[in-house]
Amino acid sequence: MLLREVAYARPSSLAEAIQLLRENDGARALAGGQTLINVMKARAGSPDALIDLDGLEELKGIELGSDGTLEIGAMTTCSEIVASSEARARPILGEVCAQIADVQVRNRGTIGGNICTNDPTNHLPPLLAALGARMTIAGPDGERTVDSADFFVGVYLTAVGLGEVLTKVTIPAGRRDGFAAVTLGVEGTCIVSAAASSNGSVTVALGCVDAVPVVLEPGSGDPDAVRAAVRGAGLQPPADVHASAEYRTHLAEVLAVRAVRQAEGRS
Ligand SMILES: Cc1cc2nc3c(=O)[nH]c(=O)nc-3n(C[C@H](O)[C@H](O)[C@H](O)COP(=O)(O)OP(=O)(O)OC[C@H]3O[C@@H](n4cnc5c(N)ncnc54)[C@H](O)[C@@H]3O)c2cc1C
Repeated sequence: MLLREVAYARPSSLAEAIQLLRENDGARALAGGQTLINVMKARAGSPDALIDLDGLEELKGIELGSDGTLEIGAMTTCSEIVASSEARARPILGEVCAQIADVQVRNRGTIGGNICTNDPTNHLPPLLAALGARMTIAGPDGERTVDSADFFVGVYLTAVGLGEVLTKVTIPAGRRDGFAAVTLGVEGTCIVSAAASSNGSVTVALGCVDAVPVVLEPGSGDPDAVRAAVRGAGLQPPADVHASAEYRTHLAEVLAVRAVRQAEGRS
C-alpha cells in the first residue's frame, strides 16, 4: 500500500532533530523504518512528518571503554552489532541480534528503534533489561539517563517523550549472559523470551508475558530457585492465536531456566 503524503526532514545535527520534533507534535523520529514505515503502510499510524535520524553520525557506532562498558549509539543497526568486535565484549548482544527476523531487517533495524518501539515480542527489551542497560535521552532541556525499569513504560510506550531522541544505550561490563526464546519459525517473532545475566547475582528478564519486560532476581541460578521466582511473579500473560496464557506461563519457567543455564556456562 502507498504511504499517505508525509513531510520529511533529514537534520544534520541532534539539536536540529530535537527542534524539528519539538516544533511539531505530529512529527516522529525515523530510524531504520522497519516498524514505522510498516505501521504507516497499514494506516495504523499517520505521522505528519518524519525526522530521519540517519544523517546523525553521533548516534552511530559502538565504543568499548577500558572498564568494559559498552556504549552503543541508538542508530546502530543489528547487523553492525553482530559484526562488531567491540560488542563481543558482551557476546550475547551479537548472538541475539543475529536471531532477529532476517538479514534485510537486521541491516536496517536499529537498537534504538527496536527498544523505542517496545513491542513486547521484540528480542532486545528483555535482553537489555537483564543486562542492566541504561538509556540516554536527549531533549530540549538537555540529556537524561534512565535505567530499563524506567525506560519501558507500556506496550509501544517508553520514557522517550515527544520532542526527545534516544541517543545511546550504555551496557555495563560483564560476559555471563544467556537468552532463550520460543519463536514462530526459525527467525520469527518471540512467543516468550527470557534473558539472564549472572554477574555475582542472577537477573532474569522475561519478554512477551507483560507489557514491559518482567525482571526477576531469583537469588541464585539454581533451576528450582529460578522456577520459583517465575511462579512467584504471578504472571498473567496475554493469550492469542499463537499461545494460551497457561502455555506462555509454562514457557516462561522453562526459558528462564535455559537462559540462566547459558549465563552460568552450563548449557
Ligand atoms: C518482518 C519483520 C520482522 C521483525 N521481527 C522481529 C523480531 O523477531 N524480533 C525483534 O526484536 N524485532 C523484530 N522486528 C523489528 C526490527 O528488528 C526493528 O527493531 C524495528 O522494526 C524498529 O527498528 P527501526 O530502526 O526500524 O525503527 P523505526 O521503525 O524507524 O522506528 C520505530 C519507532 O521508534 C521510534 N524511534 C526510533 N529510533 C528512535 C530514537 N533514536 N529516538 C526516539 N525514537 C526513536 C520511531 O519514532 C518509531 O516510533 C521485525 C521487523 C520486521 C519488519
